[in-house]
Amino acid sequence: MISNSSGGYRIVSRDYKITVMPGDGIGPEVTAEAIKVLEATGLVFEFRHCNVGGMAYIQTGKPLPDYAREACEEADAVLFGAVGHDYAPYGIPRKVLIYLRIEKNAYANVRPLKLYPGVYPPDDHRSQQDVNLVIIRDNAEGFALEHEGFLWEDRGIDKRVITQAGAQRIILFAVTYAMKHGRRKITCIDQSNWLFSDKLFRNAFNLVAERSPRLEADCVSVDVAAMMQARDPRSFDVIVTPDIYGDILSGFVIGQIGGVGLAPSACIGNDFAFFEPIHGTAWDLAGKGVANPIASILSARLMLEWLGREEEAESIDNAVRSVLSESKIRTFDLGGSSSSSQMGDAIAALVGSDPALDAQDQKTVHVDR
Ligand code: ATP
Repeated sequence: MISNSSGGYRIVSRDYKITVMPGDGIGPEVTAEAIKVLEATGLVFEFRHCNVGGMAYIQTGKPLPDYAREACEEADAVLFGAVGHDYAPYGIPRKVLIYLRIEKNAYANVRPLKLYPGVYPPDDHRSQQDVNLVIIRDNAEGFALEHEGFLWEDRGIDKRVITQAGAQRIILFAVTYAMKHGRRKITCIDQSNWLFSDKLFRNAFNLVAERSPRLEADCVSVDVAAMMQARDPRSFDVIVTPDIYGDILSGFVIGQIGGVGLAPSACIGNDFAFFEPIHGTAWDLAGKGVANPIASILSARLMLEWLGREEEAESIDNAVRSVLSESKIRTFDLGGSSSSSQMGDAIAALVGSDPALDAQDQKTVHVDR
């Protein structure tokens, strides 16, 4: 078991090989806390740490070195932080995302957003809101990452493409996700009253929904959806939508659940997935040890769920819920002064003492490059 060196061999017995790409800004700080919590589950991991993003580009000239690609090929899953750096041209760190989302075809961006008890004080009206929905947005089509556009002095044009195959793929994914997770309703959100690409998206939705009678299905324009969500946060259950509306609506819902520090995501393809907080690099907080790591910890939770480790995933969710509702440990964004690592410690301690999990000796292996 574990890892031991003998005769030049390193024998590692592990449940999961995870490629870790902490990236830039607060990425490394929050990812470290997610790893701490994963280790507390008692599962056996081999973490392969890869230096990617803007800082990697500045240091080595490569935002995505070959070994990082290889590590992704070999991994069971990828845990990602954030990429972006003022001293690296915008498109350079984004190459990492283009690789993960487009080349590796992680087309479904799943954003489960829920309000945990204790996020808002009991006398704050927002604490009474029941927010618990999943936004599934297309990671690969629409404006995508590498869209075509033109900029003249008097005009800018962006090309937006949605294909029948791409629309069907994300919609089928969302319907399957909704049924698997015991959700009752799926809503297609678009602007099909005037955009052709959205008409195609809605037609594809109607075809798929017709064949899924177990799910309630409806379609709503994005402007109406925003109004409905503001008025009643229980308006939606699972949302499937092209990339840009998913982004904007998530921003809105994230405001209702307490901020970006609490918003995880999964990017899932057919045989590859990576997991990242919705927030980005947040350079204003980087290196201070104050960022809320819960978004990253909950992304790790989604990773375990995807790997089929329901119990461990549930344990992380319960631990986050307990820590938030106890309100003793709070990072600054939640009105407290706890550090990122105090938050990570508190959640890891609860996961580590969860009687539902089969606690084992620490068997994690870290491989640095
Ligand atoms: P990028 O350009 O990489 O998207 P950004 O800083 O423009 O990064 P976000 O990272 O999404 O955008 O952050 C927006 C703001 O939200 C940050 O400036 C920061 O103040 C706050 N923020 C982001 N992540 C966290 C976090 N984990 N905990 C607390 N506050 C956060």
